[in-house]
Amino acid sequence: MIAKRKPEIIVATRNRGKLREIRRILKSLGFRARGLMDFEDLPEVEEDGRSFVENALKKARYYSTYFGRPALADDSGLEVDTLGGAPGVYSARYAGEKASDQENRKKLLEALDGIPISKRGAAFKCAIAVASPDEWEVAAEGSCRGRIGFKEIGKRGFGYDSIFIFPRFGKTMAQLRLEEKNRVSHRGKALRKLRKLLKNCTG
Ligand code: IMP
Repeated sequence: MIAKRKPEIIVATRNRGKLREIRRILKSLGFRARGLMDFEDLPEVEEDGRSFVENALKKARYYSTYFGRPALADDSGLEVDTLGGAPGVYSARYAGEKASDQENRKKLLEALDGIPISKRGAAFKCAIAVASPDEWEVAAEGSCRGRIGFKEIGKRGFGYDSIFIFPRFGKTMAQLRLEEKNRVSHRGKALRKLRKLLKNCTG
């Protein structure tokens, strides 16, 4: 007897950490997940949308058409209240097109120089979308609030984690274990919402 293979969803990321989180959810829904690192010479999609959800949908639609299979894409970033929501959709390239996480954090700490903790509120936001060639698509968003600290604390995580203080824990995101972060993070929340929506779409 030939075992029926689970349907595959292309996950539009080359980030292995993200792929691991997403794969776990998709597996529980009966899908296999395959990241972009399995493919060579893929065209890049420009993230030129004005919102996280626009970018996530654009990437999901593009790769779904390209591969002729359902594709999942996410977009995320940090919005700082006193900077009018910056760096927002530009979070990955805040300090320049090829900026490192370290350079982005440094630029943000400098932009907030002299601003008291009471005015350093910020939110991480994440949008995740799945598009299918059968023409259904779903999108979910998640966010979590905190404050930007005055210096880097903690070694875990990535991006702005070491300067994002989670008041409820009295710790930065970079001091939380992965399971703790997933329970409260923008990405964890968006993935749990998406899971519900996908269940409805796929029965
Ligand atoms: P992207 O969704 O991979 O395009 O991420 C955009 C940028 O937002 C990243 O380069 C990070 O700097 C920042 N970012 C998104 N999610 C997180 C997070 O969970 N922790 C820290 N930084 C994040």
